[in-house]
Amino acid sequence: MAGLACAWSLSRRHEVTLFERYSRPGLSAHAVEIDGESVDVPLRVFFDGYYPALLRLYRELGIKTEVINYSGSFSSPEDGTYFSYHNRRIAGRSVPVPRGRASMGAAGARIARDSVRLAVSGALRDLSTRAEDQTIFDYLSSSGYSDVFIERFIIPTYAAICTCSYDAVREYPARVILEYLRSGLFLGSVRRIRHSAGAAVTALTGDIAHLRCNAAVARVEALEDGVRVTVDGNTEVFDHAVFATQANQATSMVAGVSDEEISVLNSFKYESSTVAVHRDASLMPSRQQMWSPVNFWIDLAAPRPSATIWMNAVQPGLAGAKPVFQTWNPLRPIDAASVIAQATFERPVVGLETEALIERLDAIQQRPGRRVWYCGSYAGKGIPLLEAAATSGLAIADRVDRI
Ligand SMILES: Cc1cc2nc3c(=O)[nH]c(=O)nc-3n(C[C@H](O)[C@H](O)[C@H](O)COP(=O)(O)OP(=O)(O)OC[C@H]3O[C@@H](n4cnc5c(N)ncnc54)[C@H](O)[C@@H]3O)c2cc1C
Repeated sequence: MAGLACAWSLSRRHEVTLFERYSRPGLSAHAVEIDGESVDVPLRVFFDGYYPALLRLYRELGIKTEVINYSGSFSSPEDGTYFSYHNRRIAGRSVPVPRGRASMGAAGARIARDSVRLAVSGALRDLSTRAEDQTIFDYLSSSGYSDVFIERFIIPTYAAICTCSYDAVREYPARVILEYLRSGLFLGSVRRIRHSAGAAVTALTGDIAHLRCNAAVARVEALEDGVRVTVDGNTEVFDHAVFATQANQATSMVAGVSDEEISVLNSFKYESSTVAVHRDASLMPSRQQMWSPVNFWIDLAAPRPSATIWMNAVQPGLAGAKPVFQTWNPLRPIDAASVIAQATFERPVVGLETEALIERLDAIQQRPGRRVWYCGSYAGKGIPLLEAAATSGLAIADRVDRI
């Protein structure tokens, strides 16, 4: 998204070449065709409050989005499904409501009670005090939230949203997590791109002069008056290069830049994990009436949860088709014959030190005479999601354009 947004913006006034290592540009690189539908891998969702730049961009490009039901269920090996909620549409809002007998058990009732408390306690409004310099784990535990709410609801939910381990999400700044909640997750309407992210890729790449897929960049060397880019053993010279890869990928390619910027880029932390697309219903809650669009499997002995998206419930074109699932971080074996696709992704993880790193990178990129630039979700504030990627890509396009 960062690269597409940056290239789209620069293409309005400059001749841009976009290099992508895969056969299709980033957002749709791993999409698969199932029952005549293009299925995004991973499915990426967004909602009004947290994604203003992304939604502005989509509106400007005429990219259609649609509201989906993105409610969830939570199961564990010891308790089965212990909490589940659905989204009721009330006055144009999407209101989460606990559902089923599972949510009436001790764990489910406690989660429901603490969720209401978090929503009405003022924690989501008052971000100025303790939340400013505490981790989310310290913030919630010192505010008296129950273990079950923290460990079996909030931490697993955010491990999925941030695509990282329980340990990493516990270290997330409380402010980052609370801002995300405050921006409308509770009552906002979750959306996806209508049909598939391919629509966004087509619109964003339409005016790019040279779109070069299957073109893995090996090296980018900063020169006095330009950059030398090596792809497939060939060298080409450009005026500027923008890395829209992850920070750790950029440092493996870049040359001729300061040690300071390499050190800043290498300080962003990453975790990688896998998404499998399959038809194996054994990864879903055992009772079909408990199936939700998103289904967590929480085995606290594992480093992270697993989350299985029931694609038929979130992609209208699959509504009548055979069940299709997308599982992030499978913890239980998937029947090999039912696996349609699998991909591994790297994701930045945010800690209390990340904002200062982003500011240092930003300061470096404000220095005169630059030829090499960096953007990506890691370089934007908040959770490294599509919004941070789009904001960061558009900001770098503005800077390059102003030179
Ligand atoms: C499982 C999962 C689920 C997610 N769900 C959501 C969601 O619901 N909502 C949301 O907002 N975000 C979601 N995200 C996060 C979102 O995908 C990222 O924030 C976003 O993709 C980051 O975009 P980016 O442009 O910074 O980097 P990337 O998406 O990593 O793009 C970098 C691009 O650079 C290319 N590249 C790398 N090296 C080279 C090279 N040497 N030569 C050429 N090209 C290269 C890569 O192929 C890739 O296309 C999810 C992520 C994962 C892993």
